[in-house]
This record gives sequence, C-alpha cells and structure tokens, in this order.
Amino acid sequence: MELKGIMGNGTEKHSIIPIPRACTLELTYDCNHTCPFCSNRWKNDGGHYPRSRLLSGKEWIGIIKKVAEIGIENIFISGGEPTLHQDFLQIIDFLLNYQYKIPYYISDEEIKFKSKSVKFTLLTNGDNPIFTHKLLERLSKSGNIDLSITLVGNREFYLKEINGDFEKIIQTIHNAVDVGLNPSVSIPIYKSNVHLVKDLLVESIEIGVKRFLLMRAIPFGTMNKEKIVTNVSDLRKLLRKIDELASRILKTGSKSGQASQIEIAMGTLMPKCKFDNSDYEYIDFYSMCNCGILSFCIDPSARIRPCSCSEIIIGHSDNIIEALNSKKNNEFIHKIHNIHPSYCNGCLFLDECSAGCPAGWYYSDLQNSFLDVSLDKNFQ
Ligand code: SF4
Ligand code: SF4
Ligand code: SF4
Repeated sequence: MELKGIMGNGTEKHSIIPIPRACTLELTYDCNHTCPFCSNRWKNDGGHYPRSRLLSGKEWIGIIKKVAEIGIENIFISGGEPTLHQDFLQIIDFLLNYQYKIPYYISDEEIKFKSKSVKFTLLTNGDNPIFTHKLLERLSKSGNIDLSITLVGNREFYLKEINGDFEKIIQTIHNAVDVGLNPSVSIPIYKSNVHLVKDLLVESIEIGVKRFLLMRAIPFGTMNKEKIVTNVSDLRKLLRKIDELASRILKTGSKSGQASQIEIAMGTLMPKCKFDNSDYEYIDFYSMCNCGILSFCIDPSARIRPCSCSEIIIGHSDNIIEALNSKKNNEFIHKIHNIHPSYCNGCLFLDECSAGCPAGWYYSDLQNSFLDVSLDKNFQ
C-alpha cells in the first residue's frame, strides 16, 4: 500500500512514498518516574498539550489491528510508562497472540493469504512489579517482542533525581536476561548522569546485557537546556571510553564471561560536524531523521503526531491514512527535511545530516536560538 502526497514541498498531489514502517503507541500519560529529560510532549510544554480521556485496552486493540492491517510492521509500545495503563496485560495478551493476514499470491482466479505476527518493542523503565519471571518468560517464548529497559543512574541517583527503585529495575533486567529475552538497555545521557554512564554499561554487561542504546538528551519544550545538555567535549570523552570498553570486551570478554561482544548505538541523531563517527569503531551513529515518513506515533487519547518528540498533531487514529496525508504532516516533513538551522548554511553534509533531532529545532528561531545546544557554534 502507498500513501499519496507525503513527499515534496507539501503541495504536490501525486508524490508517493511507501507506508511507514513503524508506529509508536503512547499508551498512557502516566509515569512513576520524574526524569528531567523526559521528552513526552505533555511533560515539557508548560501544560499546553491537550490531555483527553485515556483509551481503554479494547480501543488500543482496535488501533493495533488497524495499524497492522495497513502494513506497518513494527509497533513500539511506549508511554509515559506503558505498564501503568490499567489494561496493559490485556494489550500484551492480545499482541502475543495476534496474527493478521497478508496476501502473498494473487492471480485472476484467487488471492492466497498467509498469517503474520506483529513485531513489537516494549519501551519501559522496568520499575514495576508486573515484570514477574512468569510474564517475562511468556514474552520470551512468543518470539515477537523486543524489550527495551531504560537505565539512568545508580541507587542514589534514582532516589535523588528519578524517584525510582534501582533494585527493581536491575531485577527486571536480570530476569529478562535469565529467560532469554536478550533485552536492550537504553541509557539517556544528560548533564547530571554523564559521569555514571560507563559504570551502568559495565554493570549491565556483567548481568548479561548485550545491546545498548545511548540517548543524548535534547531539551524540548520548557526543559532547562543548560541543565540537560551534556557539553560536546564531555560527550566525546564518554563515547571514547565506551568505545574502548567495547573493544576490550571483544578481545578479552566480560569479567563474568557473559558477553564476548556488545552492540552499541547512539539513538539520538548526532550532528556530523560535532561528532565524527569514524572516531568510534564500536558505536553506530545516525544523522538523518525519517520522522513522519518511516514512522509516526499515536498519543494516549488517539491523536497522531509525526513522532514522539514532536508536538504537532496531524490527525486521529480513526483515519490514519488521512492523518499521514494531511497538509500539516506534509508541511512538517517538508520543513524538517529541506530546511536546516542557519548554522548549517553552506555545509556539504546537508543531504546526510538533519542537524540533530529536527523536533529539537523545529519550533525554535532558526536564526538565533538552538534548542539542541550542541548545534550552537559556541557550545563545545
Ligand atoms: S521513565 Fe520515561 S516516560 Fe517516565 S519520566 Fe522517565 S523518560 Fe519520561
Ligand atoms: S548539516 Fe548542520 S549539523 Fe549537520 S554537519 Fe552540517 S553544519 Fe553540522
Ligand atoms: S524528529 Fe527527532 S525524535 Fe523525531 S524521529 Fe526525527 S530525530 Fe527522532
């Protein structure tokens, strides 16, 4: 299936792109943590984001069917903290068993269909007793779930800054490794925890974690950018240490013998001029955003946005295709893919670099102010 009108300058009628590959379902506005870098639009917009009634489990199941039947292959379950949705287990039960039909053979006489499971990724802070060994075992057996657990700091850090239970999170990671889920650990990096990040990797590797996603925090909305953004030289030093760690593990294995190789990716886009990925052999970097084209998200009340970090609402889940084809989405996509902050004028990488996360600079004054301060010329 194809969508019309997604590419170009937002005015063409016949440009076509394939259906997006991924959709994030933000199950709930609620969260039990207080991360200062939280990019949920309803947390950092000074109370402007419209909060309406939460969808029930039954309504989410209806949306999942719609999303899968359009042909979207990857569903991310997020929030807030998704496990706090009152029907979370109902939604998971559905996802574990859901199969939908896709045509694989079409002739004049007949159309043959085959069944397909939805691949889904659960993005959680792991701080919920709901993650029993039994539940994690069920998730592991299903084979169609990827579990991503966020880890921000050590025990003291969670008590002081995040209001979370470090032991519980580590227990969830342990259990997930034990049952063979091969979870990934997502580590946000911001000014307050930059000194802890390497130790968090080491501790997770000793448990048996093999996949890591580093998330460079970007100060959206009303966040205090000076408090959130790690300066570029500290970030480079940290990445170098992590790269050395990965190299050591490849050569000698981890202390516990659990890991002989680890995968590390930087999940937040990196401006090419500030971070040269050839400096880091074991960390994958990305520089181009495909927001609104390859992915979109649905908020806890069924409104559609181009991505979790963007505040622009482009439609409602009642009509996903209409939302993706909407003028608002076309304008947003056109802007983030064709315009750069003035800082980038004359750069040779304009076709390969989105200047960090576009949602970070989309609403800022493109001439003078950078929400993603790592883009500021003076910010080293
Ligand atoms: S755990 Fe996630 S949703 Fe909750 S406050 Fe932290 S970043 Fe936001
Ligand atoms: S496009 Fe902008 S952020 Fe990216 S490398 Fe060029 S100057 Fe740097
Ligand atoms: S706008 Fe930012 S958060 Fe959204 S998809 Fe692009 S890079 Fe990712």
